[in-house]
Amino acid sequence: MNIGVLALQGDVREHLSALAESDVLARPVRRPEELADVDGLVIPGGESTAISNLAVSFGLLDPIRKRIADGMPVYGSCAGMIMLAGQVLDGRPDQESFQGIDMTVRRNAFGRQVDSFEASVEIEDIEGGPFHAVFIRAPWVEATGRDVRVLGRVAEGAAAGRIVAVRQGNLLATAFHPELTGDLRVHRYFVEMVRQAL
Ligand code: GLN
Repeated sequence: MNIGVLALQGDVREHLSALAESDVLARPVRRPEELADVDGLVIPGGESTAISNLAVSFGLLDPIRKRIADGMPVYGSCAGMIMLAGQVLDGRPDQESFQGIDMTVRRNAFGRQVDSFEASVEIEDIEGGPFHAVFIRAPWVEATGRDVRVLGRVAEGAAAGRIVAVRQGNLLATAFHPELTGDLRVHRYFVEMVRQAL
């Protein structure tokens, strides 16, 4: 099984390590030929406007859209969640996404004064108790289409109830960064999604 991490911008190394700790030798993907070799792809956190620009200039926008349409499993965290959204609010006007999840996300939704915060999030499908979730200028999901399963919401505080984890078919997205906290359960869950799609 080959899992790639989209390596245009963002916390690529942290995802490669989280996958390595989940016993998968993952590889960075920067070129269409590298994309063709992977069975699943992780889109890291970072800055979605930068990832969008670079995806266009590296010739990856349409190839990734096509692989998604063909059923390749993809997991996006934070900026990666934005890159999977059908609709982005508060994005830059020229910002592109890979599409795939029938949802509307709002960039930097938790408020500009709060750059980052931590909260607990219970994820349906993943056992072992709530995640200690780290949010960094994170989006939230404002609306979901019929085929989208809401997997997790913020449990407490001012943002309680906000949707921060979703799945639609082979696409998984979280607004938080499990790659930063050493909790491997989301990566393991994604690896299992890739295994089942082989
Ligand atoms: N605010 C960033 C964006 O719009 C996402 C932040 C993150 O990935 N930590 O892409």
